[in-house]
Parts: sequence; structure tokens; C-alpha cells
Amino acid sequence: MLVSAEEMLKKAKAGKYAVGQFNINNLEWTKSILLTAQELNSPVILGVSEGAGKYMTGFKTVAAMVDAMVDSLGITVPVALHLDHGSYEGAKACIEAGFSSIMFDGSHYPIEENVAKTKELVAICKEKGLSLEAEVGSIGGEEDGVIGAGECADPDECKAVADLGVTMLAAGIGNIHGKYPDNWAGLSFETLDAIQQKTGDMPLVLHGGTGIPEDMIKKAISLGVAKINVNTECQLSFAAATRKYIEEGKDLQGKGFDPRKLLAPGAEAIRATVKEKMELFGSVGKA
Ligand SMILES: [Zn+2]
Repeated sequence: MLVSAEEMLKKAKAGKYAVGQFNINNLEWTKSILLTAQELNSPVILGVSEGAGKYMTGFKTVAAMVDAMVDSLGITVPVALHLDHGSYEGAKACIEAGFSSIMFDGSHYPIEENVAKTKELVAICKEKGLSLEAEVGSIGGEEDGVIGAGECADPDECKAVADLGVTMLAAGIGNIHGKYPDNWAGLSFETLDAIQQKTGDMPLVLHGGTGIPEDMIKKAISLGVAKINVNTECQLSFAAATRKYIEEGKDLQGKGFDPRKLLAPGAEAIRATVKEKMELFGSVGKA
């Protein structure tokens, strides 16, 4: 059964660790992440962007697949199925489809409109027992074709949105999606600290977890980050393992072309990446 992310994140914030959100793209991704979470006895959040939802033929397909897979694999750790960077319409579609957690990304709206739309979704999610993530200050990099510059959120705006009753808050602190450029300035811990001081117990979310140095991740967790999103890193490890298999000519040996064989090294590589992250975030054994 899928659960809201509320309880796992409250526990994470209080226990000073973070729960990983790992984005899924297909069956192999989902299976790899679920099996690793179960093996490590860690809570987990499966993220689905609107683009990935479309790729998998729609949010209903995704919800049905994840729900059935949790059951078929005998997964007992808490699993939340979460819309990542949802539009207002996408949020409503996922609520309908059976997701247990929603991110409404209204960061591109003026703050008043972000607040109004977030407020409406807070009411719907509360009634249905779903968790809701809001975003203040755009996060840089490219997400589904949208390129942001990466800015630091205004702590007062964070406080205003947190007070609407959202479950968790994503705030830009210099983080970006995808690979970090060589001249990246790093995370702004000053901003993060100011946001945490204003928002108190609110679990904070760090997007763009790929390639942030380990010491910065640990410091961010110590300053209130309780959810960290990882997407690109699983894609890179899947691609590298698949490339190696092909370059070694293994697809040409025997039945090496069988998709169950061809995709196996990539699936294993995702498991290794997820394990590494769960250990770094401190969520192992916290289910
Ligand atoms: Zn993000």
C-alpha cells in the first residue's frame, strides 16, 4: 500500500536524516528502487515527473504499476508515490490517479498566485490524506525542458507558503537539476539556515541531488533538509552499465539480446546508486 510522505519526513526531520526521492522512468527503475529500499529497510519516495508520466502512458498506469509492484514484491517499508514538479492540472490528475503525494511547483507564478493555488491543493490533499510539497524560488538547471537559473528563495516567502499547511517545502538554495557546472558556487547554507529558522519543523526538500558533494549533503541535512531528490544520477549509472554491456559485445553472445539480460546490468547499477544515496542520507534502517 502506498503511504503519504508526511510521517516518514517528520521522522526524518526529527531524526536528522533524509529520505531519498528517486525518480522512476519504467518498470526496471521502479523494481530496482523498491528492492533496494526493502533490502536496506529504508522508507522511499518514488518521484514521477509529468514527462515521465506521459512516457509511461499516463499517471493511472504509473499508479497501478507501482501499487501492484509493492504488493507483488512483498514490500513492507513505507513507499510514497509522488508527482515531481507538478503543474496545477497535473497535480489534480495525480490526485485522481491514486498518487499518495504531490508536488505543486508554482515557483514560476507570482507569489500571490503560487499561494492561492497552493492553498486550494492543501485543502484537497488534507481531505484525501496526501502529502503536498510546494516550491519557493526556482531551482536551476533543466527539468522537462524548463531551464531555471537557480536562485536563493526568500525566507519570508518560504514562511508564508509553509504556513499554508503544506507537508514539505522545496526552496532554491543555489541547487540545480542535472549535472553541476565546474564553476558552480555551491549551496547557500546561509539561505538554508534562515529558511529553517523561519519555518521550524517543516521538512525541507533539496532538489538536484546529483553531484552535490557528500559534505554539503550532510550539512544540508543538519540544517533541516529531510528529503533529497535524485534523478540524473540513476540515469547516468544505468546508461554507463548498459553501454559497457553493449561495448563488451554481450548482446551478441547467446541470448544476450533478451531484454531481461540486456537491461539487467543497468538495473543493478541503479540499485548500487540508490544504496549509496540511502547510506549517505542516513535513511537505512529507518523504515
Ligand atoms: Zn526538482
